[in-house]
Amino acid sequence: MQADAESNKEQIHVNGTASSAGGEASAQAGGAGEPRQVSVVKEDFPNVNALGKSLFDANENVVLSESERQEIVEQAESKFAELFDIFRINRNDPNSRHTPRRLARMWVGELFRGRFEAAPKFTVFPNRKKVDELIIVKGIKVMSVCSHHWQPITGRCYIGYIPGDYVLGLSKFSRIVDWFARRGQIQEELGEQIADYLEELIRPRALGVVIDSRHYCMISRGVAGDEDNSFTVTSVMRGLLLKDLNLRNEFLKLIK
Ligand SMILES: [Zn+2]
Repeated sequence: MQADAESNKEQIHVNGTASSAGGEASAQAGGAGEPRQVSVVKEDFPNVNALGKSLFDANENVVLSESERQEIVEQAESKFAELFDIFRINRNDPNSRHTPRRLARMWVGELFRGRFEAAPKFTVFPNRKKVDELIIVKGIKVMSVCSHHWQPITGRCYIGYIPGDYVLGLSKFSRIVDWFARRGQIQEELGEQIADYLEELIRPRALGVVIDSRHYCMISRGVAGDEDNSFTVTSVMRGLLLKDLNLRNEFLKLIK
């Protein structure tokens, strides 16, 4: 995948080494020689909430029980209701009456589900036939939310691997992608998390994770002129796909 004049809106990140964070950073990066804005990580905030519960990064996971998740829904609903007051939205408006509840359920149970749910369970199978070619799963749905603006990221993920001693059922890839996507994410880290998880799970000889998606923080806010047609592409290559250029080209051709 080459960045050429036709696709100059694509960001190509090979092996997660590129440093711009998300669509917005690249939109702001400007011309050469401009000082780069880097947000410095300072530990300014408490690591526990008012109830003493530990806090964790937007794209991390801590498994919570059904009742703990329900508690979060209740708390979020009351905070969303406060936001309605701040925005001066009258909740006697029938369209808004139950929206704080809807929002709380949606964030906890759907959009941030992967933060609180256990990893999907898998059976890993032995590679009995000694398969030594690329296995590719194309077009896996990505439905995520950007950590910076809490706006949707929608797109497709393409995973290719050459098995070592194990293979994974093909349908499992989409469940893994979804588990990591259903959190506050940046696309670069989403790809790395999926790759790390698969490496640990099946120890493949080659692994590639390509994500091609649209970021609604760009589209809805109108950051650039033509963001409807702008896609962000990230690619993570591991093992033979990192070292063997022919293999990498074959993979990139097959996922086109
Ligand atoms: Zn964003």
